[in-house]
Amino acid sequence: MTPAPILIVGGGFSGAMLAARLAEFGQASVVIDRTGRFGRGVAYSTGFDGHVLNVRSARMSAVEGRPDDFVEWLRAQAPEHADPQGFAPRRLYGLYLSDRLASVEATRPGLVAKVEGRVVAIDGATAVLEDGRRIDGRAVVLATGNPPPQTAGAASERVVRDPWAPGALDAVGPGETIVAIGAGLTMVDVALALEARGWVGHMRAFSLRGLLPRSHEETPGPAAPATAGMLTGPLSARLRAGRQRARDHDWRAVMEGLRPITSELWRAAEVGMRSRFFRHLRPWWDVHRHRIAPHVAARVDAMLAEGRLTVTAARVTGVAAGREGVDVAYLPPRAEAPQTLVVDRVIDCSGPGHAPGRDPLMAPLLASGRARLDQLGLGLDLDDGGRVMTVDGTSDPALFVLGPPARAAFWETVAVPDIRKQIEDVAAALTA
Ligand SMILES: Cc1cc2nc3c(=O)[nH]c(=O)nc-3n(C[C@H](O)[C@H](O)[C@H](O)COP(=O)(O)OP(=O)(O)OC[C@H]3O[C@@H](n4cnc5c(N)ncnc54)[C@H](O)[C@@H]3O)c2cc1C
Repeated sequence: MTPAPILIVGGGFSGAMLAARLAEFGQASVVIDRTGRFGRGVAYSTGFDGHVLNVRSARMSAVEGRPDDFVEWLRAQAPEHADPQGFAPRRLYGLYLSDRLASVEATRPGLVAKVEGRVVAIDGATAVLEDGRRIDGRAVVLATGNPPPQTAGAASERVVRDPWAPGALDAVGPGETIVAIGAGLTMVDVALALEARGWVGHMRAFSLRGLLPRSHEETPGPAAPATAGMLTGPLSARLRAGRQRARDHDWRAVMEGLRPITSELWRAAEVGMRSRFFRHLRPWWDVHRHRIAPHVAARVDAMLAEGRLTVTAARVTGVAAGREGVDVAYLPPRAEAPQTLVVDRVIDCSGPGHAPGRDPLMAPLLASGRARLDQLGLGLDLDDGGRVMTVDGTSDPALFVLGPPARAAFWETVAVPDIRKQIEDVAAALTA
């Protein structure tokens, strides 16, 4: 009898590349995705070539242990973008992922099944689809990715609640004034896409600290491994040691030195330290860790200099459709009362809206005790191998989480180099 397959919910980078890896190990899987865009997912479905990777091509191989895989693909398929230190269009990366999946399907026939549909429940190791189909497996991997932002709230055609949705920006007129909730990578993506469509209006981006993503250096230097002082003691002491290291080396080299050990540090940190990091350091961590290509940073600087983009430190406290446009209320730090402005459109660029307690797949798992939240409530609690921890503290051998929703357990599980490693761990656990 053929053994039951592994069910993978979500067919973006994480789910599709796990299926490819499992097939290379001879393990059958069924990948289920509601969009049917297998491989590309949210990040790599863009057709706009101004949306480039925010990681150099040399680091974007989809396969752990084959570091040149993506650059070799570029050399064969798009040689004009094959600079290993360059930032290739995300559209090409999506093609690369689709090609990798197709080539594994061709060489390992019958081991990857793709199903288009929305999974609405997990019952044991069975996935229940919206249309009533039930697919049985021997284990389930939740690779559901980055949920859309959830800050804007107001339902109005003048409020773009999910800027990643296909056609989300189509209605934006050329002279519109815009408020972006968030000033991170999504805001930058949106500003570039609008500009390329001929938008010449003004964008005001709000974020709590008013920070913008930093730029990658033109030519990367070697990583500066963390010093002992950065790895022990209270968070404040580690931060001091990190700052000292950044005075002796380029700060980017210091961030790169932390990269391979970030998940290990996160897992070793007790809950108080994680909480302090999350509340106080996270915005700074994000802008230094998740950087943008130098030419993208130059474009953002030009928009700031031209007065087309303004960044304001404030919390957006209200968004409501008004007669003249959209009314936005915002509270700057230390201000006693919110201020208001009226714009033509609001775009929610606040980033992935992870909310496990409201997630249609995760909430029932939490309610039944098959899963539990981590102590900060960031996501499902997982063991070192990515298995879901039940309410009584044991690992469920048939339920895994992979990619961005695994952030509570590993913190950095958002970018390809980190997910790629996690894929190896999950694949090893599933084929042991
Ligand atoms: C706009 C953007 C740009 C990025 N750029 C980069 C970059 O340049 N470099 C980098 O390293 N990382 C980048 N990232 C980070 C990104 O998290 C990873 O690179 C990677 O794409 C994550 O893939 P994923 O499969 O986990 O998630 P996703 O791409 O979000 O895929 C998850 C899939 O699951 C499906 N799904 C969800 N729930 C269900 C359900 N219930 N039933 C069926 N299907 C479901 C979704 O429809 C989706 O197709 C970017 C992220 C975004 C959002």
